[in-house]
Amino acid sequence: MPTGQTKLDAASPPSYSSTVPELAEVEFYRKQWNPGLGGKIRAVALHSGKRIFRGSDTSTLEKFLPGATLQKSEAHGKQMLFRFSKQLWLGVHLGMTGTLRVAPSGFQPGKHDHLVLHQRGRALVFNDPRQFGRLRFHQGLDVPGWWAKLPPALTSDSFTAAVMGKFLQRHRQLPLKAALLHQAGFPGIGNWMADEILWRGRLHPRTRAGEISEKKSRELWRVVRFVCREACKIIGRDFSDPPRGWFIHERWTAKGRCPRHRELLPRATIGGRTTAWCPKCQPEPVSRLRRS
Ligand SMILES: [Zn+2]
Repeated sequence: MPTGQTKLDAASPPSYSSTVPELAEVEFYRKQWNPGLGGKIRAVALHSGKRIFRGSDTSTLEKFLPGATLQKSEAHGKQMLFRFSKQLWLGVHLGMTGTLRVAPSGFQPGKHDHLVLHQRGRALVFNDPRQFGRLRFHQGLDVPGWWAKLPPALTSDSFTAAVMGKFLQRHRQLPLKAALLHQAGFPGIGNWMADEILWRGRLHPRTRAGEISEKKSRELWRVVRFVCREACKIIGRDFSDPPRGWFIHERWTAKGRCPRHRELLPRATIGGRTTAWCPKCQPEPVSRLRRS
């Protein structure tokens, strides 16, 4: 894998990309606009009427954003929030193909560059060919309502073992794979992270969420925290690959093997997504709920 800078220049996805940005990839893209922190927006160029702006009045964005300063940004699961002076906020959801990048000044937007914020010496660019993402504009003293209502971020103190346990109990019939992909409980977790977490937690992806013991649930919580933090650190920094020994490197190929003891990994669609697991590390449970 080339360096993060090379990848950034090429605006290409990582070698392991599932095409849908997950928590760590979102963190990476959030930082791409960091060079613009503290800088004033001098002009805004956007493709009004595009689906990406649904529910937002782009004319107010064009009217108020010029003259405002980019103050800070935050990522939460698959969402990002950029705060500007003058009580202005921009919410960014990358959808499947959205990316953020910085371009040199004088940048001319291409067909898929739906929002460009021109600053002195640079342009902050949002690009999204397929427009499953979303850009939302908000004016007000406080964060937008939709942001305030997001569930606890997985890397925050408010995501406790108890919070996670309660969520699993509320969705007790779901296979764990589906529960982990549920954004209301695990914001930012996508396909590869879910498989990584279950393999590390030695849990079969078809295990019902309500059927794991309290001890296993605590272990699962620890693994969720570990994978999220490490992925944010490694991928979120420069889009580097996670270290060897991670499950992610094996799950993409038909010849993938368990990093622990080289068992060939079967695959099946579980929770609506292609799932790989190790039959040795993650034996299929005999479900009590399914029998009843
Ligand atoms: Zn194994």
